[in-house]
Amino acid sequence: MQKSFKELGIAPPILQALQDMGFEAPTEVQTQAIPPILNGEDLIVMAKTGTGKTAVFGVPILQMTDPEAPGPLALILTPTRELAVQVDNDLRLMAKYLPHKSTAVYGQHNIRVEDEVLKQGVTIVTGTPGRVFDHISHGTLKTKHIRFLVLDEADRMLDMGFMDQVRRIIKTVPKNRTTLVFSATIPPDIQRVCRENMKHPDTIEIESPTMTVDTIQQLYYRVSEREKNETLHRILWLERPESCMIFCNMRVTVDRVQRFLSNHGYDSQALHGDIPQVKRLKTLKASFRCWWPPT
Ligand code: ADP
Repeated sequence: MQKSFKELGIAPPILQALQDMGFEAPTEVQTQAIPPILNGEDLIVMAKTGTGKTAVFGVPILQMTDPEAPGPLALILTPTRELAVQVDNDLRLMAKYLPHKSTAVYGQHNIRVEDEVLKQGVTIVTGTPGRVFDHISHGTLKTKHIRFLVLDEADRMLDMGFMDQVRRIIKTVPKNRTTLVFSATIPPDIQRVCRENMKHPDTIEIESPTMTVDTIQQLYYRVSEREKNETLHRILWLERPESCMIFCNMRVTVDRVQRFLSNHGYDSQALHGDIPQVKRLKTLKASFRCWWPPT
């Protein structure tokens, strides 16, 4: 029998916010992982992207921290700036009826603005390891009150070479805390971090027999390099999607495809690492439900 959010033990102000977000019933990972976390347990969660992991840690953090107490009380580490902003955005929506304050800190963001927000006091900080470590070193982010430590997409943080910084950050956080690790895979380095820094964690694995989401129909077209743009144009013309994401393997290709689409009258934007952060956030903001200021 499918459980409701209420049956998972979630408090009314958060239930209301989840409902406002359009969440009618918990996803599988939410059903399995929220109750043990509300019970104070450390947890390793293996699930792929898009399964609803943000609420898995967001709900218990909001429910189990006192927004009036000196903070920050929760620290969430993410591999990318975009993910930090997205998680922070979701947490703010979940905290709609609560006084908790949440902020994101990440590379290329104005550090003076971040200092000011941190100085005013926040309950939850989400950030990339480099910037979080900078704030800890400068004394602008105090970790002594942290009760929740979350490593989101830990395997990607490992791949991107952030693990040393993550370890140094963990050392500054009090041991009396809940530690949650989210990772699609658990390579040996992540296993070690979990063993050394978590208290008897259970592992919840959300079965993913295939690497794909069943609700997505997949097609492929065999075309020569020369015909790619025209084929894309024809597919878009036929399918007429309301919105769509196109992935390319190189930054130059992203720019080339974007120019091609713009020249053909599509309202399109490019996203890649050479594009300034402010512009990237503007593009993201324009493309989905999101209201953070692109500062
Ligand atoms: P993950 O962190 O696993 O990649 P997210 O937490 O970002 O996934 O959730 C993926 C998407 O699904 C988001 O757009 C989120 O708003 C939505 N979502 C999450 N949980 C639910 C739910 N219970 N019902 C409906 N939509 C949900």
